[in-house]
Amino acid sequence: MAKILVINAGSSSIKWNLFSDKLEVEAKGVAQRIKMAEGILSLDYNGKKSDTITELPSFLETVKKLVAMWEENGIIKDFDEIGQVAFRIVNGGPHLQKTSEVTEESIKHLEESIDLAPVHNPGAIEAIKAFRTLLPNAKMTMHFDTAFHRTLPKLAYTYPINYSVTEELNIRKYGFHGLNHHYIALKSEEILGKKGVNVVSLHIGNGASLCAIENSQSVDTSMGFTPLAGVMMGTRSGDVDPSIIPYIMKHKNMSISDVMKMLNEQSGMLGVSQFSSDLRDIGKARLENPQAQFALDLYIQRIVDYLITYLNRIQGKIDAIVFTAGIGENDEYVREQVIKKVRLVNLTIDEAANKNRDFKDYKLISTKESEIPVYVIRAEEEMYIAKEASKFFN
Ligand code: AMP
Repeated sequence: MAKILVINAGSSSIKWNLFSDKLEVEAKGVAQRIKMAEGILSLDYNGKKSDTITELPSFLETVKKLVAMWEENGIIKDFDEIGQVAFRIVNGGPHLQKTSEVTEESIKHLEESIDLAPVHNPGAIEAIKAFRTLLPNAKMTMHFDTAFHRTLPKLAYTYPINYSVTEELNIRKYGFHGLNHHYIALKSEEILGKKGVNVVSLHIGNGASLCAIENSQSVDTSMGFTPLAGVMMGTRSGDVDPSIIPYIMKHKNMSISDVMKMLNEQSGMLGVSQFSSDLRDIGKARLENPQAQFALDLYIQRIVDYLITYLNRIQGKIDAIVFTAGIGENDEYVREQVIKKVRLVNLTIDEAANKNRDFKDYKLISTKESEIPVYVIRAEEEMYIAKEASKFFN
């Protein structure tokens, strides 16, 4: 079996991981500032990290430079060593609901759903086309952040708006971060030694979503039709009353796209703290800066509210609560506060375990007395995609 390249393309970046046939990461990196001045090609290979500043005028040029960089550094000897390319896609829309082969038809479906992920999908489509041109012999698959949530019941995915409009426009909760929430379900099965687990997964990174997992399937999740919904995030507001949008438009003389940009890019932790979206900055500032502490309190409260809803949503005994992603894995204060604010069940945190940063893929952070065990599991989206891709054509 040949190497598998996992690609996560954004609006101006391509994050890549190259896996061996044994699914070990051989090299990884990111191309940033595509179509902007001074592009950056970062490489992490053989224990060495480097950054090269170069012009990246298009996705095709970027992919050409990536392939040349892999050859120059001896990462591949010829193109055909890359047998498979697996693309992470934020939203496959109504037609692409499970892992799919890249074909003319699936690309067309993706193009039709650009409206549903306007920030992410255009870059993904350009990256797919560029890799198809440069690696014509490689097999290619698409892996969707929405796929794990295709099991949501109608009661969870329906918005209570005019039903004929809902049906006509296919409006529904799609849910995101599904690649990691699914990985969390599978990893929890492994840790707990049982098939079919009931877990609330808290994926809290710059983007954040909670997922109610019942019998290892997604039954509800906090992001919605787009990744703007749900809990408060780094720069996204999460849930707000939609009437705020025309009110701001009117009183601040802003267009709808200005307000949407504000809700997506200048809200959440950045908007409330008024200085940073990064929890590391907020954590350092909170004792002297009351607004930073307030932003953090609001952030934690919104997570707790969803956590309680999902603890109640899952039918049957809950096997675990799991924190994952940048903040979930690294921020002991957020974890501790979230756990302490849950009053309906008795959760008790093991403070030493919560503070311990030296763990491999997971750790238990609750004590034996806790009614539900609480874990931290490191997100593994790329590995999950590589595994899925390796099984797809067999
Ligand atoms: P992600 O989107 O999963 O990569 O998460 C990125 C976010 O994780 C950053 O914006 C930080 O807010 C947060 N983060 C990363 N490392 C730490 C840390 N050591 N302590 C607190 N927050 C962190």
